[in-house]
Amino acid sequence: MILGITGGIASGKSTAAALLAQHGAHVISADQVAREVVKPGSELLARLVQMFGSEVLAADKSLARKRLGELVFADPQARKRLEAVMHPAIAELSSQQLRSAAEKYALVVYEAPLLFEAGAHKRVDKVLCVTVEPSVQLERVQQRDGCTLAQAQAQVEAQMPQHKKAELSDYVIDNSADLAALKVKIDQFFQVQLASDLHAAPAENK
Ligand code: ATP
Repeated sequence: MILGITGGIASGKSTAAALLAQHGAHVISADQVAREVVKPGSELLARLVQMFGSEVLAADKSLARKRLGELVFADPQARKRLEAVMHPAIAELSSQQLRSAAEKYALVVYEAPLLFEAGAHKRVDKVLCVTVEPSVQLERVQQRDGCTLAQAQAQVEAQMPQHKKAELSDYVIDNSADLAALKVKIDQFFQVQLASDLHAAPAENK
């Protein structure tokens, strides 16, 4: 079974995925796949340099992700052009990785901030949305990224609202309390919901 995990920025997707890994889940991260498709020497990285200029290359020939992020954050058209080349490449590589992992593991977790936006929900069996109260989310973004409240708000507002992601998901877990509380919720989610989904899954996924 492939479980997609999504949610807003700093909602706790990676933390939830790591807790499921403790139960034996194999975790694939869309951010990691996004790094792999533009690794130094890749065709896609060369394409990005063509599109956005050599300023998106770091000194070591890797992608200057922060610089590219700043460029597209300020320019919605550029962002669309970037997504038009990145999303298909990520879709192809993540599909391959998910298929191959699903042959080996009973539970595969695909952690993807833009699961719905990128259409990747079609490549998973069920979706868990991790939510967080807006004030807690803004605090966590500021603390993690060392940014201002206004910058944190701008990042949150640039995304699909979390209530919409939650509506589209099969399961919702709120992560506004502490880490111990999240662990209790994820353990229970694994033992109750996922256990019954895994029993219902086709034999070849077991
Ligand atoms: P993003 O997609 O924005 O990279 P994410 O949704 O994967 O983030 P995490 O990386 O899991 O979120 O968590 C974001 C930050 O909040 C991290 O610094 C993490 O340690 C912290 N955090 C997560 N859950 C909790 C919690 N319950 N209590 C306190 N801090 C938390």
